[in-house]
Amino acid sequence: MQPDLQRAAMVEEQLRARGVEDERVLEAMATVPRELFVPKATRGRAYEDVALPIGDGQTISQPYMVGLILSGLRLRGGERVLDVGTGSGYQAAVLAEMGADVHSIERVPKLAVRAREALAAAGYADRVEVRVGDGTQGLPEEAPFAAIAVAAAAPVVPPSLYGQLADGGRLVVPVGARREQLLLVVVRSPEGPVALAGVACRFVPLVGADGFGDG
Ligand code: SAH
Repeated sequence: MQPDLQRAAMVEEQLRARGVEDERVLEAMATVPRELFVPKATRGRAYEDVALPIGDGQTISQPYMVGLILSGLRLRGGERVLDVGTGSGYQAAVLAEMGADVHSIERVPKLAVRAREALAAAGYADRVEVRVGDGTQGLPEEAPFAAIAVAAAAPVVPPSLYGQLADGGRLVVPVGARREQLLLVVVRSPEGPVALAGVACRFVPLVGADGFGDG
């Protein structure tokens, strides 16, 4: 099947049918060539309903999880967004396609290099900045962010990330144990964090100062 047909089927069957309703997210995911963000050997599986290995024990998130994370951010276009855990660069590309000014941070240098290449090949290089570092600490010099998306599991809501949200800003992060988490939407308000109930999920661990320890 042609990639554009596979993308359209992915949006209908994996996203819309399961309750992802944000049209801007659906449109962007129907546009970004996901096959450019998976290793060549697994390109034929790019639109499957699963997370796929991208090397270094890491994965490109399942499309449904990307849909849930990005819907939780409630973006309208033009916002400054922090993407924690660049991985393949796919989620950063979808954010860019939605019109966001994307700052993405990855701890594994090799993955950051590959993500930059994939983002360039897909035409998003000028809208996404990929940095290497500990994303649990955010990017203080670029803060505040209207939205922060975290694609790896944290033991608690990382305090530095909450602190780098603009007022009314939204942070979506899987929080819980190493093997199972809840995808939380946390909104910054003058009274403090407001956490909205999330769905059960399973992400690779966020490794860093406010993440899980190494190993
Ligand atoms: N958004 C990615 C999903 C990648 S999986 C995609 O669309 O492909 C999560 C990624 O988070 C992995 O690449 C992992 O190396 C990275 N990661 C884990 N801990 C991190 C940290 N403290 N800072 C930045 N990246 C981290």
